[in-house]
Amino acid sequence: MSRAKLVAANWKMQKSIAGARSFSERLVAGAADDVACEIVLFPPFFALPFAAEKLKGTSIAVGAQDLFWEKEGAYTGEISAGMIVEAGGTFVIVGHSERRHVIGETNEVIAKKLKAAIEAGLTPVFCVGEKISHREAGEAEQFVGEQLESALSQLSASDLERIIIAYEPVWAIGTGKTATPEDAVEMHRFIRGCLSSRFGSDLSERTRILYGGSVKPENAADLLREKEIDGALVGGASLDVDSFIEIASAAP
Ligand code: PEP
Repeated sequence: MSRAKLVAANWKMQKSIAGARSFSERLVAGAADDVACEIVLFPPFFALPFAAEKLKGTSIAVGAQDLFWEKEGAYTGEISAGMIVEAGGTFVIVGHSERRHVIGETNEVIAKKLKAAIEAGLTPVFCVGEKISHREAGEAEQFVGEQLESALSQLSASDLERIIIAYEPVWAIGTGKTATPEDAVEMHRFIRGCLSSRFGSDLSERTRILYGGSVKPENAADLLREKEIDGALVGGASLDVDSFIEIASAAP
């Protein structure tokens, strides 16, 4: 089964409104010819509508980096799924390792966010990944399996249809260290196996699993040529439009 590759840019807490606009313009101009994959940009929320405006009418989508699970109310500082939709977003990252390990989000919180995103019609990019201590102790699969299960147990098969998974080993995010294509493929197969045990092989074969962790122009082709790797979630190397286009162009 062939799954369409997707390359996404996670800008985290970086770029201005002007930066988001000019990146989007240059991306549309530069990606038109060489890029065969789907592209999604995740600007900081305040810049999302400006990127969405520039990308209107193109195949490039925009999403938010996080959401809150309630629809509205007294939740100072939070953003709801409906607000993301109103701002022009169609995707949302859920459970990024910086939300888990810097902000302290739990698996329970992440499961609620996934549900809220799906209910609002957003496509969640659900991130899982082990720390170096788990990998060194030979517990990477067990840890990722628990992260997955805690969310999957709250979801139906039709929910899973809406989700994209991103395997992002924490030790590879922003560190310059990348999982080898072999290590990434092994974990992607494990993740697909977990999906298959719960929802059957047909649905698991249709679910896209992205890799994230120091993807850059120099290693993108080796990762993206793997059939098991359905795309990339790119942090640091997505801030520069030329580097991001190079990565996206490496997707077969
Ligand atoms: C990320 O933020 O999801 C990420 C993978 O970052 P980087 O590419 O900088 O490692």
